[in-house]
Amino acid sequence: MILILLGPPGVGKGTQASRLTKTRGLVQLSTGDMLREAIANGTELGRKAKSIMDEGKLVADDIILGMIAERLSSPDCANGVILDGFPRTIEQAKGLDTMLVEMGLSVNHVIEMQVDENILADRILKRAQESEQVRDDDNVEVLKKRLKVYHENTAPIIPYYKDGGKVSVVDGMQPIEDVAAAIDRILNGQEG
Ligand code: AMP
Repeated sequence: MILILLGPPGVGKGTQASRLTKTRGLVQLSTGDMLREAIANGTELGRKAKSIMDEGKLVADDIILGMIAERLSSPDCANGVILDGFPRTIEQAKGLDTMLVEMGLSVNHVIEMQVDENILADRILKRAQESEQVRDDDNVEVLKKRLKVYHENTAPIIPYYKDGGKVSVVDGMQPIEDVAAAIDRILNGQEG
């Protein structure tokens, strides 16, 4: 199972992905988490990525695709993965397809999580307050840039997947449990 969770920053992709690892035995591949780990480990990639992330911009496609290729081919991912925060550009979506074809796989579901963007700032600030480790990019100024990048670079991949009939929409404004139930209905083939 290859599942993509798509939606603007702060919509709750990470929360839902983390739950699905427990309920479905899937592995969560979050490119944002991988990059933050590289920063924490002080690697060269981490040093390069930090300033880009702090500005709310996107890290280069080839770097991201390299990270995903390495993880996708590891044995723990054999049961399936939830892609959280990836792909974020058409190039990444195409690169993913190429990788999957080579592995005899394809994307099974794309779940677009929609949200009223006016409340995203509140959510992001809440996340910053509640989290032990405050993210440098969790502030309103960077959020605005990340939203702009989402609309310019990431939202255009929705039509790319719509052509393949793989996109389902979930209202991310609902309570976490209701979003989870809606995602479960989609994955169980009961939506609509
Ligand atoms: P996230 O945790 O998914 O919100 O990602 C935090 C930041 O990491 C983003 O604002 C980007 O700077 C970078 N990033 C994460 N995933 C990607 C990706 N797939 N492509 C490019 N940049 C990414």
